[in-house]
Amino acid sequence: MADAAIFDVAVIGGGVVGAAVARGLLGAGLSACILDEGDIAHRASRGNFALVWVQSKGLGMARYGAWTRASSDAWAAFAADLEAETGIDVAHRRPGGFNLCLSEQELETRRGALVRMHNQPGWIPYDWEVLDRAALAREFPDLGPEVVGGLFCPLDGHVNSLRLFRALHASFKAGGGAYRPEWPVTRIAPLSAGGFRIETPRGVVEAGKVVLAAGIANARLAPMVGLAAPVRPQRGQILVTEKAAPFLHYPIVTLRQTDEGSVMMGDSAEEAGLDERIGLGVLSVMAERAVRMFPRIAALNVVRTWAALRVMSQDGFPIYDQSEAAPGAFIATCHSGVTLAAAHGRLLAPMIARGALDADLAPFSARRFDVPQTA
Ligand SMILES: Cc1cc2nc3c(=O)[nH]c(=O)nc-3n(C[C@H](O)[C@H](O)[C@H](O)COP(=O)(O)OP(=O)(O)OC[C@H]3O[C@@H](n4cnc5c(N)ncnc54)[C@H](O)[C@@H]3O)c2cc1C
Repeated sequence: MADAAIFDVAVIGGGVVGAAVARGLLGAGLSACILDEGDIAHRASRGNFALVWVQSKGLGMARYGAWTRASSDAWAAFAADLEAETGIDVAHRRPGGFNLCLSEQELETRRGALVRMHNQPGWIPYDWEVLDRAALAREFPDLGPEVVGGLFCPLDGHVNSLRLFRALHASFKAGGGAYRPEWPVTRIAPLSAGGFRIETPRGVVEAGKVVLAAGIANARLAPMVGLAAPVRPQRGQILVTEKAAPFLHYPIVTLRQTDEGSVMMGDSAEEAGLDERIGLGVLSVMAERAVRMFPRIAALNVVRTWAALRVMSQDGFPIYDQSEAAPGAFIATCHSGVTLAAAHGRLLAPMIARGALDADLAPFSARRFDVPQTA
């Protein structure tokens, strides 16, 4: 076998998390490679809903709310940098976002959750509001008669997620990064002199640091370097319509019109293991709710449906850690990798480059799962 290629950092996984971190590492002046699987892979980054979403993020962990908000705030500059480097406009918009409710009970449940979230100790406040039907109708002239009210947060937005994915990889390549598809990592071995030897069926890489960003595969890889990543797949299904003239000027948590005109619907969450098949039952419920919110959607043809697997931790919050047993081995995994792409590139990557996560990322350590749960 040829000698191992040597990098400052090897990032395992070329999804939106790995690509955002790897690009940030290049920006910090390090040499980096991304070791990835091939085209056929579980890859949430290719099948997501593309929201950059803040409202509703952080009930149970105030730090997650602040981290998400920091990413939302960094997103415009992050998108501008990507466009300047690659010429790709990822269509980031932050007009604010809505959650529309089809019953008073639904509205009260969602309002109550946000009140509890904003009342948590350590919460950094930001604006949000509850809107009645009349206020919503001023923003959405096509609103369906069953919508009773909703929630609004001015920090919410969305992007073109496939273009984001392409731009991250194009930027990484343009910055001198080495992308190795079809190099699935089978073994990571800490070296006695420091650094890591990373094995794949196609060859071996050595690196001073390693970042595990392999989505649901992190669960299997993490123990190789003394880390834990209790993440599981969670299926989400999406429908996309033919293109239509712009009528939805804000993203809604379950529904959005893309920059290219198609309407996307999707907020399902199913525990289905690695099964990525769609099901008409779930799709029809999502379509029916979308039509009740905006009856004009009934006239649009659905042109594509798919399912993809979220990367879900036990409490739904991200995991960021450095290994105590093998310093230099980091993990980054989360279920909102589009929202957090700016934070991963601009905040997390410089910490990894410096060799230590900031103390205020401690709540994200997987050590939180070691604490016995009270009944
Ligand atoms: C239906 C759906 C809707 C979503 N909507 C949103 C949304 O609106 N907003 C938002 O912020 N997020 C959303 N997400 C979540 C978002 O897509 C994920 O958080 C994000 O894609 C996770 O990225 P990742 O890079 O960690 O994992 P993935 O995209 O799953 O990528 C993992 C990568 O690791 C590689 N890999 C696996 N094993 C190995 C190995 N052994 N060696 C090398 N490489 C390996 C894979 O090939 C892949 O490239 C959604 C997800 C789904 C499924």
